[in-house]
Amino acid sequence: MPQTRRITRSSVTNAAETSQDEPPKKLRTPRARASTQEKGTEGDGLPPSRRAKVKHVSKPETFIPRVKSLWKVGAHVSASGGVENAVTNAAKIGANAFALFLKSQRKWTSPALTEESIKLFKERMKEHEYSAEVVLPHGSYLINLGNPDQDKREKAFECFLDDLKRCELLGLKYYNFHPGSTVGNATKEESISLIAQCINRAHRETKYVVTVVENMAGAGNAIGGDFMDLHGIINEVEDKSRVGVCLDTCHTFASGYDLRTETAWNEMMTKFDEQVGLSYLRGMHLNDSKTELGSKKDRHENIGLGFLALGTFRHLMNDPRVQNIPMILETPSFELPVDVWAKEIAVLQQLSATTTKSKDNGEALRSVIGEARTDEALTDVVKAAVRIAEGAKGKKEGTGKTQRSRKRKRDEEDGEDEENE
Ligand SMILES: [Zn+2]
Ligand SMILES: [Zn+2]
Repeated sequence: MPQTRRITRSSVTNAAETSQDEPPKKLRTPRARASTQEKGTEGDGLPPSRRAKVKHVSKPETFIPRVKSLWKVGAHVSASGGVENAVTNAAKIGANAFALFLKSQRKWTSPALTEESIKLFKERMKEHEYSAEVVLPHGSYLINLGNPDQDKREKAFECFLDDLKRCELLGLKYYNFHPGSTVGNATKEESISLIAQCINRAHRETKYVVTVVENMAGAGNAIGGDFMDLHGIINEVEDKSRVGVCLDTCHTFASGYDLRTETAWNEMMTKFDEQVGLSYLRGMHLNDSKTELGSKKDRHENIGLGFLALGTFRHLMNDPRVQNIPMILETPSFELPVDVWAKEIAVLQQLSATTTKSKDNGEALRSVIGEARTDEALTDVVKAAVRIAEGAKGKKEGTGKTQRSRKRKRDEEDGEDEENE
């Protein structure tokens, strides 16, 4: 069991749910906790993979210690019950960065953010010391700004613009989205232009939020599997200060760019710099891959357990070019984020020679991953956490289901690269 840090009174003074007369030793069950324990409903901003009847096993007062690091590693956490809960959920896993959905990612319209949600979100950001720069909200999967069908594109644009406005209401700086698809009815160049035009229009209708285009695994008609697609979009964006790129390690690998050796990683980064520009790199998604190089399949695997293996992440965690940008895990957590993501975050930080130099960090990391130091031992830490979480989830799903159907469900859940409408 990881050693835990107890919440002090001062760290919860801003939380609306705490009162003056409560004892300082224990954090009263926060609303975040209460609502994530309930069964999620559609429209709760929770990805379907995490929307299930699940109770977290960690105790309410448990927060994993957060290391001080220039590599801002976190995860795409649940915003179930309100966006403000994402902040607490990130703090619980020791994340230095986080991603969230700003509304249901599978519905065209969602209720507006409430004043209360906005207020609590901002308070919790301060309370847990997250700056806007380390938050990378993820856009709705429905949005396809490259669709040549004008009505459908307009509908997508409205949803996109609504997301951007939500970012600004929350004081967030970045917004990550999938570029889109030709849906087989346009050339890549036509779709790329349509995407750029939508970005330009959205920039005019918002104040400052930076639109961050994600690279894709390159399946079917999707735009963004090739760095030149990203270049094409940026090239047509008028306000270049408000456009960026998020590189997903699984997508990068699946689309055919190797990054497993240090040489391959450097070559990929050089190519990215030449074709897109390193100054546009505003975030990364850290995922291992269940499929081989160039598979064009978007199948996220837990860190170290896929074709990329742990060694790949050592290059990232020691490369100054990816410092101070959100690095977000989108790996399966099986509804046990504290058990899986907290371990993955600590394992990744352990790979960074700079991060582990500090004595405080050493102690914090030891409390989560014990004495594991070699790639093999660190991989085993993730493997064990996944096995436990998967087992816990399996039990909750009932014994009637076969291992195979559970595995199939898992495969469906963790891919995010779906064909847009
Ligand atoms: Zn994505
Ligand atoms: Zn991603």
